[in-house]
Amino acid sequence: MTTAMSLALSISLLGAAGAPPKSPPKKTFESDVLKTAKGDITLTFIGHGTLMLKFNDKVVHIDPVGQYADYAKLPKADLILVTHEHGDHLDARAIEQISTDKTEIVLTAACQAQLKKGTVMKNGDKSTAAGFAIEAVPAYNVKHTRPGGAPFHPKGAGNGYVIACGETRIYVAGDTENIPEMAALKDIHVAFLPMNLPYTMTPEMVAEAAKTFTPKILYPYHYGKTDAKVLADLLKAEKDIEVRIRQMQ
Ligand SMILES: [Zn+2]
Repeated sequence: MTTAMSLALSISLLGAAGAPPKSPPKKTFESDVLKTAKGDITLTFIGHGTLMLKFNDKVVHIDPVGQYADYAKLPKADLILVTHEHGDHLDARAIEQISTDKTEIVLTAACQAQLKKGTVMKNGDKSTAAGFAIEAVPAYNVKHTRPGGAPFHPKGAGNGYVIACGETRIYVAGDTENIPEMAALKDIHVAFLPMNLPYTMTPEMVAEAAKTFTPKILYPYHYGKTDAKVLADLLKAEKDIEVRIRQMQ
């Protein structure tokens, strides 16, 4: 996102603490339930790049941001994953609202510098948190840059995460393009790939990304005004990939 947008977002989030937000967050969200041999996985589509995942009795919040939900009313987190420090992904207040003394937080170095807590994972790190095997994978821009040439998301700063729910591996890509590292992803059951412009991928780039690691289910997310149906058309011939379009606000 641009600095101007980032500022605007910080101001609106600050405003939300003391004044009514301009557009109140949604109260109900779409969810999908995946039945697995190790238990049900419920994926809840909060908005933009923000997700909630439940696996058996464990709750994972991904990039919780108060602009998209009233976190005082959502389940407390066993695990919080933050992909990067931009205002549409890192929100200290939302994190506070869903944290207990048992909540584990996994984030990037820049997020930890702001939040002053949590466990840093770098690209390539593997760990276990709240009983979930987690892999941090790269997320960055190659083509899409700011006017001066700097990528919106520089290599090494942000994380995507692969979260194992039993044997079901869920890839939440963060803000990225179709980078070569994606070809190394193995056994991805569910993938969330970002598609808002100019910050992340075009539908064509998402389609190319998906073909390199063939997720069984692909959700475009963080897609802003991009027409998600274009992606579904591009992948129509790929019988091994089911594109699911959900309302991400
Ligand atoms: Zn973003």
